[in-house]
Amino acid sequence: MQNLKFFDCDLHIHSPYAGGVSKNMLIPILADQARLKGLKLLNTGDILCKEWINHAEHSLTKKNHCFLAEGFDTYFILGGEINDINNVHHLFFLEDFDKVNQLRDSLSQYGRLDGKGFGRPTLKISGEKLAEKIVELNGLIGPSHAFTPYFSVYSHFNSVKECYGKMANEIKFIELGLSADSYFADLIQENHNYEFLTCSDSHSPWPVRLGREFIRAKMEKPNFAELKKVLRREDGRHIAMNVGVDPREGKYHCTACEGCQEKYSLKDAISLNWKCKSCKGPIKKGVIDRILELANFGEEIHPETRPPYLHSIPLAELISIAKDVKQTNSKKVQGLWMQLVEKFKSEINILVDSPIEQIAEIDGEIAKNILAFRNGYVLYIAGGGGNYGKPIICKDKEDFEKTKIAMKGILDCNSSKEKQKTLAEFG
Ligand SMILES: [Zn+2]
Ligand SMILES: [Zn+2]
Ligand SMILES: [Zn+2]
Repeated sequence: MQNLKFFDCDLHIHSPYAGGVSKNMLIPILADQARLKGLKLLNTGDILCKEWINHAEHSLTKKNHCFLAEGFDTYFILGGEINDINNVHHLFFLEDFDKVNQLRDSLSQYGRLDGKGFGRPTLKISGEKLAEKIVELNGLIGPSHAFTPYFSVYSHFNSVKECYGKMANEIKFIELGLSADSYFADLIQENHNYEFLTCSDSHSPWPVRLGREFIRAKMEKPNFAELKKVLRREDGRHIAMNVGVDPREGKYHCTACEGCQEKYSLKDAISLNWKCKSCKGPIKKGVIDRILELANFGEEIHPETRPPYLHSIPLAELISIAKDVKQTNSKKVQGLWMQLVEKFKSEINILVDSPIEQIAEIDGEIAKNILAFRNGYVLYIAGGGGNYGKPIICKDKEDFEKTKIAMKGILDCNSSKEKQKTLAEFG
């Protein structure tokens, strides 16, 4: 009799050997922070890099066909990300260190795998060839952050199939990335064939980043063989929920200038030849406009198997808004965060499951924000041009409706013919 359980998993992160990654990104720290967040399974990330393999082998023990972080109750799966010859990023997973070493042997001819800055290697290999090599080793591969304007499958190809050629049938998942969700991705018919991964792509171990997006998977154990079944929906295994930030929080959601972040409609961007009329900076096509170019459907439609998508906000962000403190890493925010997590065991419990009255016993303002978030009374000033979007938490339904009307035109991706008003001007 199989015993299936739910596991919250973040399947895309990086090691200190990739560019711009915190030196605290070490397996014991990650394992501990994952516990506070409420995650059970993480990707090691960067597993083709020799230095990181050494750290992983040293910090993980094989137990019950799973890789357990020594001294913790957090599991890891071996995987990483590769930038191919077309500047498309691919996420992959492998079963064990033997397979990792075999893949290293077969990929080393295409580019450098080791050393600082090479954790996410750039290889002179096509997506098709790369998929062939990974599938040969019984591994899993799919495109990372499939819609972002740099380094993604849909920025260089019109379909996932085109990118992977004769290997296309082996692709079981796409990673949505922070600027898209199931609603947007399923507007493209091809994507109905794929499972959706929501992952943080985190460069730091702290829970405001780690697990910013994750999946809730139903499986028997947190390991590679089970993930494979999840992605093939075999024997009752499946993704039960995608959790991620609202796409409008993503930094490439709208078409916008990378210099001054002025937003443009696709039509205006084209007529300006992708050059900002205010600062002459480059205008970057937003995820939303790229998806609408490729969309086959004009309204929300999903395959029957698509799990619900929960739009989440990191707890530290809710606290910083409640306390009117700008930095999520300030002492005050972190102190309250810790107090809550100690009482309710994990961030995910607080955001999703714990009774509001009990949270209010610690802090009434924070409890109010969490309730507003659970009820969906959150508006967003959409991001674009490399700038993250911003959530606005409304007190109640009435406040939500009023604010929505008052801020019409600055919430979404509309072109800004006149100078945008600031938040303060709306009082
Ligand atoms: Zn990437
Ligand atoms: Zn990445
Ligand atoms: Zn500009």
